[in-house]
Amino acid sequence: MALPSPLVSRVGRFLVIHEESFAGVSISSNVYVLRDEGSFYIFDASGHKSLLSYLASMGIHGSLIAGVFLTHGHYDHVRGLESLREYSPTAYISSRDRQLMEETVRGYPSCSDFSEAKEVLSRLGLVSIPTPGHTPGSTCFYSPGEYLLISGDTVFTDGYFGRTDLPGGSDSDMLESLERLSGMRVESLLPGHGPVASESGSRHILDALSCAKGMLRG
Ligand SMILES: [Zn+2]
Repeated sequence: MALPSPLVSRVGRFLVIHEESFAGVSISSNVYVLRDEGSFYIFDASGHKSLLSYLASMGIHGSLIAGVFLTHGHYDHVRGLESLREYSPTAYISSRDRQLMEETVRGYPSCSDFSEAKEVLSRLGLVSIPTPGHTPGSTCFYSPGEYLLISGDTVFTDGYFGRTDLPGGSDSDMLESLERLSGMRVESLLPGHGPVASESGSRHILDALSCAKGMLRG
């Protein structure tokens, strides 16, 4: 597949649509795309109302999108679902963030909890990891075969971690989640915002944990 702009890159099996692709349209997030034979899975829908047309410009037609995995329910990660209603691929989100998502995307026709996503994730070589702290239902996706982590707004590169001062945020949960992630081997770190890291992901996570220990009260 041809990459349409420098704002799209590739890390392992994943296409990375950097959030700057959507700049000027709305506050957005990075979007990750995984191809599974003839279909595609999307990780975070961005805040871009026209996500569908953006994907179409990359040759990813709406009818080929088999599912959308959401790291959490904030509008800058879920609003793009609006543009997928016509095809309504199943949106997977933690039940703890479902209501938050519905504040932005009301009545999306096909929505499931991760308990129903295990089979699909396992076929894709991924597992979901609950990482509350930024929101109660924040979730990361890990590929044990590639040591790759899609980390939403829990942890970013260069020692940053997600804010905990929004409704539902928790300092102690964030610390526990960062501890949990720091115990895993991560090479590629694909966060919800900012640059991605294609190596040394664990170092970025350890830096974030050490910053969080200094800044948050557990
Ligand atoms: Zn967020």
